[in-house]
Amino acid sequence: MQPMETINTVNDLRMRVRAWKQAGQRVGVVPTMGALHAGHLSLVRAARAQADRVITTVFVNPMQFDNADDLTTYPRTLEADARLLADAGVDVLYAPTAAQMYPPGFATRITVSGVSEGLCGGARPGHFDGVATVVCKLFMQTLADCAFFGEKDFQQVQVIRRMVADLDLPIEIVTCPTMREPDGLALSSRNRRLDAEQRKAALTLPRTLEDCAREIAAGADVAQTLAQATARLAAAGFDPVDYVELRAEADLQPVGKMAPDTRARLLAAAWLGSVRLIDGVPVPPVG
Ligand code: AMP
Repeated sequence: MQPMETINTVNDLRMRVRAWKQAGQRVGVVPTMGALHAGHLSLVRAARAQADRVITTVFVNPMQFDNADDLTTYPRTLEADARLLADAGVDVLYAPTAAQMYPPGFATRITVSGVSEGLCGGARPGHFDGVATVVCKLFMQTLADCAFFGEKDFQQVQVIRRMVADLDLPIEIVTCPTMREPDGLALSSRNRRLDAEQRKAALTLPRTLEDCAREIAAGADVAQTLAQATARLAAAGFDPVDYVELRAEADLQPVGKMAPDTRARLLAAAWLGSVRLIDGVPVPPVG
């Protein structure tokens, strides 16, 4: 296995990828914002299994942050990330600068309507424009054949799938399951900003979602269950609770009542102090 190479410019990246493509190799990309954890590494593993070459991108994308504090305090651990990625067998770590991604005069935004409205799109205006724009750029820069995303950011995957279909981007999107701590908390780069007390309270998020998903599958009233879930999160110290919603997996439309063939997900986002956590679980099929 060759050692991992770190590349910072699109020209160098293109040169490397051109050589791979000429050799007929399939290229996979795992886009991240760094501060890597086992969730990101599960995407790298999936990419290694399905591609000959793997690029992981680390870029804290200013365009997708609607909150200046969140952008400044977002953890940045590039050296540790590089070690983890090298050990995981990544071929190229692509870490462009903001100036490289958004040079003076940059004026394009990709807006995906429909699936990007409501949920995180409602709570974070402009967020999915930033995501779609940077992901499209990363696809064009890497010219990857396949890209790997986590189910934890369920709406994000839907936005990217819609963009890829609408713009005829020649790339396959692969979704990977959410990796969790042993106690159930979804792994997230933001978890490292939780203090001990918040870390304990954070557990209420996956527990509430799991309990409510089970109750809804057993026939509980959806609106009432969602209201109870919000109240339980608030009682545990989440403030504000941005949303707790039941949405169809296929198109993210709200689900008011489960039918035997409904495939739905319970999705939530809520704040503990200055840390915003999101999570989601599938609702077991009813009937
Ligand atoms: P981020 O660095 O948070 O932008 O995430 C980069 C990618 O890793 C996205 O596709 C996320 O959905 C995915 N990801 C983040 N956390 C997890 C997790 N706990 N399990 C699986 N994938 C994850």
